[in-house]
Amino acid sequence: LFITIEGGEGAGKSSLIQHLANTLQHMGRSVVVTREPGGIMIAEKIRSIILDTEHTMMDARTEALLYAAARRQHLVEKVVPALKEGKVVLCDRFVDSSLAYQGHARGLGMEEVWGINQFAIGDVMPDLTLYMDVSPEVGLSRISRSPDREVNRLDLERQSFHEKVREGYRLLLQKFPDRIRFVNAEEEPEKVLEAANAILKD
Ligand code: C5P
Repeated sequence: LFITIEGGEGAGKSSLIQHLANTLQHMGRSVVVTREPGGIMIAEKIRSIILDTEHTMMDARTEALLYAAARRQHLVEKVVPALKEGKVVLCDRFVDSSLAYQGHARGLGMEEVWGINQFAIGDVMPDLTLYMDVSPEVGLSRISRSPDREVNRLDLERQSFHEKVREGYRLLLQKFPDRIRFVNAEEEPEKVLEAANAILKD
């Protein structure tokens, strides 16, 4: 079972993932928690290139290709082997991030970005995607209150960029209603977890 968690900045993906992993482990499932871009050494190195605050000149297509490259390596090295062993893979971000961020918000076009990602992932798609919806106001203010979070190049973007990311995710929800499920991430953490658990059980 391949489950991905998506959402904008400050949606609370990483804490939800930890909770979901606990729930699934209590149900007797063997779980792998991982993230994109990253999860394995090569992809973590690509992540640091993409997110380096000094790389303000990075071209949007270069960025999209680097995400796709990191995704490919992470998939073959970690995700696919775990799925073959019958594990549940919980992944913080996957191809929908590229479609929303690079395809829609950066304006490269979702179809274009889908093309390079199809080359990268072949036919591996999540069985379920939880989209954690949060307004940029709420998400960005949560981030500013979490001192442990690493500052990245995306933090330099304007709020309008994050609005477009949200719009991109909403388009994806309409396009893939069976795979992507909406979670209101502005609710209290317990409520968010409850909603996510209900979707998982479903
Ligand atoms: O989810 P996480 O905070 O680890 O993501 C790191 C950064 O990479 C975020 O600022 C996110 O907006 C950005 N990102 C992006 N395009 C993607 C995936 C992540 O701009 N396709």
